[in-house]
Amino acid sequence: MSLKHKLKLALRESYARMLFHSGLHALVNKLMPRRLVILAGHCVKPERGEWPAGQHLSPDMWIGEAQLERIVSWFKARYDVVSIGDGVARLDGSGRSLLALSFDDGYRDNARVLGPLVERQKVGATVFLESRPLDERRVNWSHKYFWLLAKLGPEALVERYGAHSGPTHTFLTLNQMIAEGRGNERYHLKRILKYEAPPDERDRALDLAFTEAGGDERKLCDELYMDWNEARELSVRGVELGGHTVTHAILSKIPPDVQRREITDGARSLERGLGKKPVTFAYPWGRRWDYDESSRGAARDAGFTCAVNMHAGVNRPDTPRYDLRRVAIDGEAKLHLLVAEACGGFELLRKFGLDLAE
Ligand SMILES: [Zn+2]
Repeated sequence: MSLKHKLKLALRESYARMLFHSGLHALVNKLMPRRLVILAGHCVKPERGEWPAGQHLSPDMWIGEAQLERIVSWFKARYDVVSIGDGVARLDGSGRSLLALSFDDGYRDNARVLGPLVERQKVGATVFLESRPLDERRVNWSHKYFWLLAKLGPEALVERYGAHSGPTHTFLTLNQMIAEGRGNERYHLKRILKYEAPPDERDRALDLAFTEAGGDERKLCDELYMDWNEARELSVRGVELGGHTVTHAILSKIPPDVQRREITDGARSLERGLGKKPVTFAYPWGRRWDYDESSRGAARDAGFTCAVNMHAGVNRPDTPRYDLRRVAIDGEAKLHLLVAEACGGFELLRKFGLDLAE
C-alpha cells in the first residue's frame, strides 16, 4: 500500500471517529442536503444455530446478526430506515435523511435471519434475487469456483480447468499465475475467471470440474440460497424483493441482447414467483465496468424504476436513477465510518477539495 493511500485511510479514520464521538455528525446531517444512503451486504450470519453457507463463503460476504442489528438500531433513532424503492420514492420530499438496507443474491440466511430482524426493528429492506437458484436450484460459477478451491486448492483447480477447457488463453493465463506464485491466488484466479475468461468456456469447464470432484449442485444451492417459499415469506414480512438477473452475469461482458434476456427473464421470474413486478434492480458485481449503457436501458425497459451499483457514496434527488450508489457492509463494517458517510461528512469535505471517500 502506498504511503499516500495509508495517509488517506488514517485521515479518513480519524475524521470519522471525530464526527461520530463528538456528536458533530448530527449537525453535519442537518446542514447537508437530504440524501439516501444505501447499505449493501450479502449474507447475515446467525448468532445461534446452523449456518451451512458459512463453509463456502469468503469473509467479505457476510455480516453478523448482532452487528447488523446494532447498526440498524443506531440509524433507526436518527434516520428513516427504508427499502430502496421507498427511499427513492421519498428522496424528493422532506423529513429525516434516508437509509436503505440491501442484501444481494438471495441467500437463505436473508430469509431466516434478516427477515425476522427487520420485522422486530420495524424497518424496511431490499433483497436482490438471482432467479436461477430459485427456479432451477442451480448456482452461478463463482460458488462452484469457491467450492473447488476449498476442495482441491489452486494448483489442482487450474489443472482440472485446463483438462476441461483445453489449452485456451484463460487456462494459460491461470497456469502462468500459479507458476509465478505471487500469492493471493484466491483473488487473482477469481479476477482472471471473472474478467478474462469467455463466460461459456468458464462456466462449462467449472461445471465439469465441479461434477468430477463430487460436487452436488442441488445440495450446494440449498446450503446457500433461499427457495420460493422463503422468498414469499420475506415479501410478506414487508421486505422489498428486487431483480439481480438470472445467472449473475457480468453484463458488460455479454452482448446487448443477452443482457436484455438476463434482466427481463429475471424480472419475469420474480413476477411469477411473487405475484408482483419488481421495481428495483442491482447490477451483478456492481462495479462501473461491470455494466454499461445497454444494461441501464434493459433495466429501464424491463420495468425497473431504478438500479444500484457497488460504489460508495450518497444519493441525492439529482443522482441518476440507474447509477445509485451503495456502501458495502461486511463483518469489518465500522459504525463510525458508515455514519461519516451517511451524515454527508465525506461529501462536505469534498466541497473543501479533500476527497477521503472509498
Ligand atoms: Zn450479487
